[in-house]
Amino acid sequence: MFMHMRESALTYFENPPYPIMSAQIIDGKAVAENLRESIRQAVEERINNGLRRPGLAVILVGDNPASQVYVRNKKLACEKAGITSFEHTPPADISEADLLALIHELNNDDRVDGILVQLPLPAHIDEESVIETISPDKDVDGFHPYNIGRLMIGKPTFRPCTPQGVTRLLETTGVDITGNDAVIVGRSNIVGRPMAFELLAKDCTPKICHSRSKDLPAQIKQADIVVAAIGKPGFIQAHWIKPGAIVIDVGINRLESGKLTGDVDFEAAKEVAGYITPVPGGVGPMTIACLLENTLESARNRD
Ligand code: NDP
Repeated sequence: MFMHMRESALTYFENPPYPIMSAQIIDGKAVAENLRESIRQAVEERINNGLRRPGLAVILVGDNPASQVYVRNKKLACEKAGITSFEHTPPADISEADLLALIHELNNDDRVDGILVQLPLPAHIDEESVIETISPDKDVDGFHPYNIGRLMIGKPTFRPCTPQGVTRLLETTGVDITGNDAVIVGRSNIVGRPMAFELLAKDCTPKICHSRSKDLPAQIKQADIVVAAIGKPGFIQAHWIKPGAIVIDVGINRLESGKLTGDVDFEAAKEVAGYITPVPGGVGPMTIACLLENTLESARNRD
């Protein structure tokens, strides 16, 4: 019995059920740096032409440590790109009315091209009311129903930053993804759902899976493109992936060791996939770069 198990284990490793090859790693950090540099140059050109410096207002409610890190990174990225950042840090007990009043003020402030409210918000504040109060033409996060609706009808204005970043990474592979079957795992408003419309715009055939989907491994197995946006470390297994598929890992999970990891079992999956994004250094840097791009676009729209 033991002998039999050992033999079958050996057979498995010598003849794995998928071909062993090594995926090309999509270097999101490098792609994002290029994009940020082109934004910096475009801002500099604006200033040289006597145009206004773009401005991004960031509202951080309370003192969530993870949010503080995200906001600090966004502020630094703005500085490097030459975009002015206006930081507002109301206390966690700010009333919803006062927060909405602050957003109205920023909607009317001509120096401000983009308004970003860092999520999540304290429980007493209704996230939807906040998002819907941001003027759609300053909604550089692309979360307002107007901007989501525009994306859905194939006439995008501000596209949500993370799915937009994923699309840009797909473009850098140079692979013709027309007609590709794509499986997106996760149906949040900020990643999964808009991702489907990004891929539809690229002439893919997207399918959104979630925690109630049947037989996720089988769904993933038929996908030419897999986008994982779940929030569970190493959840997507290598043997679920179609050999040669493009695997984009949106997940950012912090392990107890402090290490950041994605939703895909990267080490094993990179032996099956054709292309794969690492975590960190994949989608994450693209999100901030696309935020800067949207802010620049807003400034141009408002010249
Ligand atoms: P949410 O928690 O809002 O959504 C998670 C989704 O995963 C849900 O739709 C949920 O399904 C689905 N899900 C959970 N468990 C399973 C399961 N067992 N099988 C299939 N689907 C499952 O997360 P977000 O979309 O906000 O973020 C997802 C991940 O991406 C997180 O790790 C987050 O940190 C990261 N992220 C990274 C960004 C970046 O810049 N790289 C930006 C934004 C997020 P259901 O709806 O049924 O509950």
